[in-house]
Amino acid sequence: MTHPLEPIVALQKKDRKLIRIMREIRDIPQRQSDIEAQLDGARKKLEMANDSRKHTEAMLKDIELEIDACREKVNRYKNQQMEAKTNDQYRAFVKEIGMVEAEIKELEDKEIRLMENLEQGKAIVEECEARLNTEKEGIADELAELSDRSEALNERMEGLKDDRRRAAELCDRVLLQKYTRILNNKRDFAVVMVESGGHCGGCHMKLPPQVIHDARNPTKIVSCNFCGRIVYNPAP
Ligand SMILES: [Zn+2]
Repeated sequence: MTHPLEPIVALQKKDRKLIRIMREIRDIPQRQSDIEAQLDGARKKLEMANDSRKHTEAMLKDIELEIDACREKVNRYKNQQMEAKTNDQYRAFVKEIGMVEAEIKELEDKEIRLMENLEQGKAIVEECEARLNTEKEGIADELAELSDRSEALNERMEGLKDDRRRAAELCDRVLLQKYTRILNNKRDFAVVMVESGGHCGGCHMKLPPQVIHDARNPTKIVSCNFCGRIVYNPAP
């Protein structure tokens, strides 16, 4: 008579493989984001370079508006100057226009400096983009490998699930329930062999002689008194 634990032990071998594969699949997203995190530094630098460029652009826009406003003011004064009734009034406009034109000159100098800054800023953005792209290329192989691995593991998992289903059909129902309950609880093994010297293969505690003896008997299913795993002592 074959021992009723034999198909359970065969099932356990498949479950062990399945658990290992499922764990590896579960860990892949974390490994991917660990690899992606290598880009964080380069991404941050690019973001800062872009912010700085936008800030310069906004300042430049403000200066342009200020210059336009000053030019309008000069035009207005010039029109009023032509309608001046007295020499004093005329001279007053000459003075006003001179002041605004000096202001325009100052703003234009500032504008030139900002334009130079903007050119530099754009070059820095390009540099940062190039660096980020180089780093992306550097991790592309690693990510592709991981994605291939994930695909292969998923395929293997589906195959194993079919195998497992067929193996489970060969098991005694009640024993299968007991096995599943223990495996869910212990997460490594539900059925363990009696080790040499009469120790439990799960928790390694010394088993009572009766348990060791009954673990050979196909009509009896016995558990370790310490860890609760089913103990099996196949005939040599
Ligand atoms: Zn035990």
